[in-house]
Amino acid sequence: MNNLISGISRRILSPKIYSLALTKERDNLTKCTVCSSENKDFSFRCSSCGSILQQQTRTLDLFSTIYNLWRFPDFAFRRIVIAEHRNYTFLLALFEAIGISFLFLFVTKAGDFVSINLGQLVSMGLELAVAVFLPFVYAFSFLSYFLARVSTTGARLRGFTAGLIYALHPVAISAMVILPAEIAVFGPYIFSNNPSPQIINAVPFYLLGFLEFLLLIAALIFVVRLTMLLFRSRKRAAIFVGIFFILLFVTTEITKRVLVK
Ligand SMILES: [Zn+2]
Repeated sequence: MNNLISGISRRILSPKIYSLALTKERDNLTKCTVCSSENKDFSFRCSSCGSILQQQTRTLDLFSTIYNLWRFPDFAFRRIVIAEHRNYTFLLALFEAIGISFLFLFVTKAGDFVSINLGQLVSMGLELAVAVFLPFVYAFSFLSYFLARVSTTGARLRGFTAGLIYALHPVAISAMVILPAEIAVFGPYIFSNNPSPQIINAVPFYLLGFLEFLLLIAALIFVVRLTMLLFRSRKRAAIFVGIFFILLFVTTEITKRVLVK
């Protein structure tokens, strides 16, 4: 297991994979080839003469973008952040919100204080996804963009948001694959402690839990990778992480209180 995780993280975190391609790209990024003036890392037009600094992707294809993220994360993130149309971003964010929402119901054991009715729990999970956790994803992006001053890299708010949402794509995979499997095996008891799902059927519980854990770790590694690419300072990266935990704490506490009533 350690080998697997270090293998995955080495692959995602190693900048050497495409360093050659990047060295060439980097020169174009900082210096305009037409007027030689210096430009921000993520701007695609020269600020003084207006000529195009780097090839801007017109549209993003969901599967090839995710595939590229696993192979050449920095290259893929760069393409996402400066793309003209960031297709699928909202859909991906919606599935991530669903993933976070049901994780919230699982951690709080919502079945025990709301209802142990599967239909009711599923509709509650979907409602919370749309009403609470989807806005949460966008609010986090918005707050961190301004407070951690992402604009200094030349990245625009929408590009940064897309980068963040693509970084979290393992959460969407978890919502589409692991969550239905968990519900199929345990029904509403995946969100309950009496009886808890590991007592009902231990092997699928730990197996699915382990896969979900790996996907969450992968999402975390992608977010770290994106922040390393965007935030050249530790202070700004720390602000980014701080905003995430404060916002997550406030959101889940308020939601819990509203649900218990
Ligand atoms: Zn120029």
